[in-house]
Amino acid sequence: MARVFNFSAGPAALPLEVLETAQAELTDWQGSGMSVMEVSHRSKPFIAVAEQAEADLRELMGISDEYAVLFLQGGATQQFALIPMNLSAAGQTVDQLVTGAWSKKALKQAQAVRNVNVVADGAESGYCDVPAADTWKLTPDAAYFHYCSNETIGGLEIHDVPDTGKVPVVCDMSSTILSRPVDVNRFGMIYAGAQKNIGPAGLTIVIVRKDLIAEGGAGLPDILQYRTQADAGSMSNTPPTFAWYVAGLVFDWIKRQGGLPAMAKHNQAKAEKLYAAIDGSDFYANPVAIPYRSWMNIPFTLANPELDAAFLQQSAAEGLTNLKGHRSVGGMRASIYNAVSMDAIDALISFMQEFERSNG
Ligand SMILES: *Cc1c(COP(=O)(O)O)cnc(C)c1O
Repeated sequence: MARVFNFSAGPAALPLEVLETAQAELTDWQGSGMSVMEVSHRSKPFIAVAEQAEADLRELMGISDEYAVLFLQGGATQQFALIPMNLSAAGQTVDQLVTGAWSKKALKQAQAVRNVNVVADGAESGYCDVPAADTWKLTPDAAYFHYCSNETIGGLEIHDVPDTGKVPVVCDMSSTILSRPVDVNRFGMIYAGAQKNIGPAGLTIVIVRKDLIAEGGAGLPDILQYRTQADAGSMSNTPPTFAWYVAGLVFDWIKRQGGLPAMAKHNQAKAEKLYAAIDGSDFYANPVAIPYRSWMNIPFTLANPELDAAFLQQSAAEGLTNLKGHRSVGGMRASIYNAVSMDAIDALISFMQEFERSNG
């Protein structure tokens, strides 16, 4: 069996052990003679899986009972629209920080429903830096403040939680959730599409303070209300059962690795090694301001972009896949989520050095 080193930005690499467990259980899950995909989401065995996954996620992230944890569909993109509808009322202002492609998309969706105040926009730096916090134009009575803690495309990560006083902080954590410990109590809401660092596509995790969703969005249909799914254990309608099950296997895998402190150590070490290789060469470059460099997505360019195609072709031939940068940025991008091993980083660095020797 040949597994490649997979640097995909998403859907992304999953731990091999998780895939093997899912494979072993696929046709005869828990002695049922069926797969987990073929049973009712309301059956006792599936409810047990669903509850265990939620309990493990709560344990991993230290999520208190003041928060609802929802297992939804629609992706992080659907949240861009649901958040303003659920967490603010007509006439209220919402604050948003714009640091790259994903926070821009979130802005556009919120602007369709609410009055949005852009507190700061990193456009001037080409989204390679974040305007200093003391220049942000915060609204004192904003319904909430929204930001993206890791811009997956630009490779820019905000490592500290912004201080917004009493205004609840809402964070798109799609590409950094579970990569390190976070203090959930600092947030009004955290959300993430699963396909970066949690599990298969089709599942979206929402962690939201219960008091923020108690009233619900005025005039919203039930299915668009967080409250509805919170009251129904995310089973107001059929949830993405297979993705929920695999996410549960991933949570269990993370626990066995030593939880989020162990993930943080592993991820920081991987990122530092790759940045050191990039910075130590005149052939490769990363444009992001050092305090905001991502641990998860590391874009890099070659001194001569005419070599991009050869780099991609030769790296793929050596089993290093999905290194092409996003079409909006060009160059390369190595996405190195939890499931990407140090061996993958070492193999990438040695390929990069060899490529530089033959082409530099
Ligand atoms: C991938 C990604 C999204 C979009 O997720 P979908 O599940 O495709 O809607 C949003 N935000 C960030 C930070 C992402 O990385």
